[in-house]
Amino acid sequence: MNAGSLFGTGMTSPRARERLINRLRKEGIRDRSVLDAVRKTPRHIFVDEALASRAYEDTALPIGHGQTISQPYIVARMTELLLAGGPLDTVLEIGTGSGYQTAVLSQLVKRIYSVERIGALQNQARRRFQSLGIRNIRLHHSDGGMGLPEYAPFDGILVTAAPEGIPLALVNQLKPGGRMVLPIGADQEQVLVRVTRTNTGYEKELLERVVFVPLLGGVL
Ligand code: SAH
Repeated sequence: MNAGSLFGTGMTSPRARERLINRLRKEGIRDRSVLDAVRKTPRHIFVDEALASRAYEDTALPIGHGQTISQPYIVARMTELLLAGGPLDTVLEIGTGSGYQTAVLSQLVKRIYSVERIGALQNQARRRFQSLGIRNIRLHHSDGGMGLPEYAPFDGILVTAAPEGIPLALVNQLKPGGRMVLPIGADQEQVLVRVTRTNTGYEKELLERVVFVPLLGGVL
């Protein structure tokens, strides 16, 4: 498949993207700036060429190394939850993966620091951001469970792999009033949670059931 056909007809066409946006609306995504960012983000650039024809289906897809690109609904929902409550300047993302979620969010905040433990995925994501001319993303190859204390505090944190409980190291890197959206729990038993840092600790809201790959320790 050449670049022309990727941007042209078939499932990577503007019509396929519009169908995806309509579906996200039906599934309850309301924030127009989020729908617009999803509309503008070429998801087919973030998957292997062999899967490009499925890029605008509302489904997770494999990206190698046992990882997956998140389902567009989940990307939109987590972005909406993070933004509800006001605009964010600096955001920390744990789990760059394909870079798709990062690219969507990069259009809605000033700067993102994104951490990935698998070096090969990080390099691929970096090339994608360069090819799309995205400049407000800083990538780090480290264990995201520790956060990035040298750049803290953050207005928001988004975690796209599931720890078993709320990582306090991350809560402590939020500004007061800052929000963190993350899946929590072991296989098939995960729930999406929004944590808001308060002056004395944090509050949490349990939202909906989700399925994510686990948050693992160490770097590869
Ligand atoms: N938002 C990404 C999701 C990728 S899957 C996308 O849509 O493509 C989750 C990612 O989290 C994987 O790439 C995995 O390698 C990464 N990950 C898991 N544990 C991690 C950790 N402790 N630190 C950093 N990244 C981690």
